[in-house]
Amino acid sequence: MTDPDCIFCKIVAGEIPAITVCQDETSLAFMDIGPLAEGHVLLIPKAHAQTLDGLSADQAAALGRHLPALVRAVKAATGCQGVNVLQNNGRVAHQVVQHVHFHIIPRNSGDEFGFNWPAGKYPPGRAEQLAKEISRHLAR
Ligand code: 5GP
Ligand code: ZN
Repeated sequence: MTDPDCIFCKIVAGEIPAITVCQDETSLAFMDIGPLAEGHVLLIPKAHAQTLDGLSADQAAALGRHLPALVRAVKAATGCQGVNVLQNNGRVAHQVVQHVHFHIIPRNSGDEFGFNWPAGKYPPGRAEQLAKEISRHLAR
């Protein structure tokens, strides 16, 4: 599965250069070209899928199994104090490249990267109602 217009598929195919960190049959990790911090790594499936929900459980497991070791390695290589693992789905969620990817982003106190985290509050019963609805969809 390859999308001829997809920049990350081109990286997988070797048509566009990238600085590889590690790879296996299904997954590739490489340095982000526009790092939010030194050591910012991207982890992608080699097969094209636009968003996380387009992966099978097996594809997601094959990809996700690399995350703990990558986080350990990025921490060790950069000496960072923390790490954000970020995964954007959809343009509204700041996904610019339409091929599933996990960002592994080193964090240090006082760095420039930040979130707007507008934590809300549910009215009585709403969280339970939504949990039930989500569970119903999971059971399908
Ligand atoms: P998104 O906003 O889609 O979650 O993040 C896309 C990421 O891909 C950005 O951090 C951007 O710097 C990175 N990126 C985009 N094009 C290239 C490229 O051609 N090579 C590499 N190595 N990274 C890229
Ligand atoms: Zn792709």
